[in-house]
Amino acid sequence: MPGLCGTLSQRERDLIFMRLNEKQTKYVHTQLKGLKQRIFEEKLDNWQLIDFLDAGPFWRREPWFYCECGKAIRYQYIIRNKETGEVKKIGMSHIQMHTGITPEQAREFRRAIMEIYDELGELLWKFNTGWSLEDEGIQHIPTDLEVPEYIQETLDLGLPLSYLQLCILKVMIYNHQSGRVSRIFGEERLKKVF
Ligand SMILES: [Zn+2]
Repeated sequence: MPGLCGTLSQRERDLIFMRLNEKQTKYVHTQLKGLKQRIFEEKLDNWQLIDFLDAGPFWRREPWFYCECGKAIRYQYIIRNKETGEVKKIGMSHIQMHTGITPEQAREFRRAIMEIYDELGELLWKFNTGWSLEDEGIQHIPTDLEVPEYIQETLDLGLPLSYLQLCILKVMIYNHQSGRVSRIFGEERLKKVF
């Protein structure tokens, strides 16, 4: 078992991934795709990510996707050149070769992608250890608290919240409770004044 979250190997990630139900899998894949699209947006000027496909853990035995050059790949990135409209299907390790970006850009790009997998590792690690809100010190969410949709969706799917989502939720609960307290104290003060 890995000592730290975010340090899961591909194989460890796959094993946990297989335990997710269909809705959870779809959600995680959609999140991954969104994060990768944002990285394309931020790091590359000319290329945008149209789709991101995963051939699954048995891709070597049963190749499903290929890079432009014919190499079998697990993750296929379908990208479009914003200026020419040209569409390419590539593997991440060949991004420089097939897009003409600089080695520096490619390095920076891959580093950003790896960070996403650290976040995914965190989510899967928590899922694997039976994560719960109680473990994070949240006994219950006040029923009249308006939880942001993206946090509620994660909870409804039975998936762990990310560190950031958790911080946001904790602050919201804290503000909600202290708001109620200050309202009560406010009323008490008014009673004394009148
Ligand atoms: Zn290639």
